[in-house]
Amino acid sequence: MPISLQNPLLPTHYSVWFDPPDEDGDEVLHFVSERRSLKLKGRSFREFHQRVIPMLNGKHSIEEIETATTDIFPADELREALGVLAEQGILVDVPQPAVAPEVAERMAPQLNLFHDLAPGLTFQNKLEAATVAVLGLSGAGAGIALALAAAGVGTIRCIDSLTVAPSDVYLSPFTGVPAVGSGRAETVSGLVERAAPQVRVVVDDRKLDSEDDLRAVIEGADIVACCLDAGQSNLIFKLNRVCLASGMRWIACSLAGAEIVAGPAMHPGKGPCYLCYRMRAVACAGNPDDAFAYERFLDRRKSDDSPRRENLVFGAGLAANFIGMEIVKELTGLAEPSLVGRILTVRLTDLAIEKHSVLRKPWCPACFGVQEADVDK
Ligand SMILES: [Zn+2]
Repeated sequence: MPISLQNPLLPTHYSVWFDPPDEDGDEVLHFVSERRSLKLKGRSFREFHQRVIPMLNGKHSIEEIETATTDIFPADELREALGVLAEQGILVDVPQPAVAPEVAERMAPQLNLFHDLAPGLTFQNKLEAATVAVLGLSGAGAGIALALAAAGVGTIRCIDSLTVAPSDVYLSPFTGVPAVGSGRAETVSGLVERAAPQVRVVVDDRKLDSEDDLRAVIEGADIVACCLDAGQSNLIFKLNRVCLASGMRWIACSLAGAEIVAGPAMHPGKGPCYLCYRMRAVACAGNPDDAFAYERFLDRRKSDDSPRRENLVFGAGLAANFIGMEIVKELTGLAEPSLVGRILTVRLTDLAIEKHSVLRKPWCPACFGVQEADVDK
């Protein structure tokens, strides 16, 4: 069987063991992970386990392994066994460029899962090449920045002009009490640097007022995570317009009482925009007139009200992780994004999780006329 791997790697999450020979002298070699299980039948698996398996670490070519084990395995037998493992996706090639060894060691669980879900695909390289702008670093935003850094996103922009409030330490306990009064962007970027020194982190603490300001902080990013407080909704609607005009993907997140809302994710030209979503939310409210009046109040508010909003630390953590997972899917393609035209709600009191569709609003003042062909991604 031909084998095309250059430097075969057996990811570390596989448990490998062999059964002793049966009465006919046949042995069984097991490869087992949470998702996969493969048995090879043959002979000399004790030697295979001792001599070949340790060389399947992505640092040796097939020829080197052949040369090193020529005393126990004819080349064709070895290639056949390795070929079966490669065909099953258990043996993979190390994607090039390879992740730096010290980073790979840290994120072995993620790299192993990527190998498991899609052998040979370069998800990690895509993350390393990506830039994510995180807008609003109270509550979920700080958690998203930190989780994406841990996941190996190449560049993270920490965008927030405000300082760390005591309630930020409650919602994001890893910021720590001594950070109160320091800049949020500076504080979170410091945490990112400690957690993942290979990540390029950009501090942006300019005050954001206009669409031009927003355009400047998100330009060149691959996706934006917006975790601004509802009291800053004026800025969120500006972000919506800027992203529609530039074709920028973005994902919204809100922490509201005992329910968190992750999404929707906006793909300009495809599905609803943020204004569509808010108009639908108002229309579905028990009293749409009152809901609209509150939306207008929030639009005029222009203030981060998160320190006095009703919330739980657990909601902030859950929201951060759901949004982070969606962003990894958006950047790698490991699965279809789940929140384009949808929101995910988690009710903390009974842990009810639901997904709701959000339909585009015909004649929406923001996105009407923005077609997929108009935007470049
Ligand atoms: Zn719209």
